[in-house]
Amino acid sequence: MTVRVAIVGSGPSGFYTADALLRSDGDYEIDIIDRLPTPFGLIRAGVAPDHQKTKNVSRAYEKTALNENVAYFGNVDIGKDVSVDELQSLYDAVVLAIGSPYDRKLGVPGEDKKGVFGSADFVGWYNGHPDFRDLEPDLDTDAVVVIGVGNVAIDCARVLVKTPDEMSHTDIATHAADAIHASPLKDVYMIGRRGPIDAKFTNVELREMGELKNCTPIIDGSVIPDEVPEDMEMSDRDRRLKDRNLGTLKSFVDAAPDGREKRVHFQFFASPVEVLGGDSVEGIRMEINEVRDGRAVGTGETYDIPCGIVIPAIGYQGQPLEGVPFDDWNGVIKNDEGRVSDGLYAVGWIRRGPTGVIGTNKHDGDRAAEQIQEDCSDGGKAGRAGLTALLGDKGVRWVDYAGWQQIDEAEKSAAPEGAPRRKLTRIPEMLAVLDG
Ligand code: NAP
Repeated sequence: MTVRVAIVGSGPSGFYTADALLRSDGDYEIDIIDRLPTPFGLIRAGVAPDHQKTKNVSRAYEKTALNENVAYFGNVDIGKDVSVDELQSLYDAVVLAIGSPYDRKLGVPGEDKKGVFGSADFVGWYNGHPDFRDLEPDLDTDAVVVIGVGNVAIDCARVLVKTPDEMSHTDIATHAADAIHASPLKDVYMIGRRGPIDAKFTNVELREMGELKNCTPIIDGSVIPDEVPEDMEMSDRDRRLKDRNLGTLKSFVDAAPDGREKRVHFQFFASPVEVLGGDSVEGIRMEINEVRDGRAVGTGETYDIPCGIVIPAIGYQGQPLEGVPFDDWNGVIKNDEGRVSDGLYAVGWIRRGPTGVIGTNKHDGDRAAEQIQEDCSDGGKAGRAGLTALLGDKGVRWVDYAGWQQIDEAEKSAAPEGAPRRKLTRIPEMLAVLDG
């Protein structure tokens, strides 16, 4: 008795779900479907190109993909090529692992000016995601402002200031490396609306900002408390991690440039109130905040930062899929611990919002596999054979795992010296590899 499962999305949460099903004692036929020909979701298109060790987790996903009970269907857009309803008619269980790939909006005047790029777009651009291939940010500017002090903000800032040599062992998209390294950029501002204690970045990522070849971190020491106040409620672990961040920020105070030409300015207690300029960004107006009961409250006092690009890195959200209940407020699919409706499940960021590290998705995958075991049985559905027939009828060209391996090989063999790969960044280029 085989239970047929379709997993939509081939990022970490999709692969962890497949892996958990394979480790369980049920008999599963698992099809992993992705909108792009290339698998691995945020591992390929979100994790920073200079964090190659983090990307190595895809080797574990590859083992899962090569299991005889698993098939990959890349280049198939669920919601466009095939509906969720159609998938449910073919599979006993459908798992939505589609992530939160859209930017949250700042909600300030001027946000639609040329030169404002949400971090999802900007990260997609430097990582060679086909959707953002033609973003073409005009980096002919001295200064970039990144709003937010999370790990995505720090990734954007770091990739912008690293030297060509520092990026030479990475898989940054060639178009992005060329634009970044030709830019006269000198100053990147990272701005938190609350204080250093509330910053979301983790310490390894923060420390990297003090180890850059051509960039000095700049911070006003007077905004950094010595330690987290004792009366501030938090777990011992959080306190330790936050104290560590404070120590690292302190170590940046009065850092000597030593000939380094670029600067990353860490600024706190300020929120954007307006993006300035004509059609294009010329600056940003920030309002100074006080923090009351953990919330940033504007004081009415403002200051302007001249800049040519603004990158809001303030978190991501998902988007609705036709026929699937959606929680607009939280930007996630409505679900009860992952269960959406009969035979329909959500995992990862589209289940619980864009937080946590890659490994956090493992728990979601385990939970979804348990639920599928509890809820689903062989309903005599057509599964893989049905999907293949449907795609054939609709004239959808899908890419199987062997096809991805060919694309992978083509990228690796085109890699510049020392780099892991040279990414193909347009879908037709990827398909052309398969056409020989
Ligand atoms: P995040 O950690 O939630 O950080 C978002 C930042 O934006 C916070 O500083 C937040 O401030 C700020 N913000 C939100 N709304 C704002 C507004 N309206 N105006 C000004 N600032 C605003 O989100 P993220 O950086 O996108 O990261 C998402 C997840 O991916 C996180 O779990 C992160 O750790 C993970 N990630 C990890 C790595 C890594 O491990 N190297 C790399 C990338 C991403 P408040 O705190 O005041 O809300």
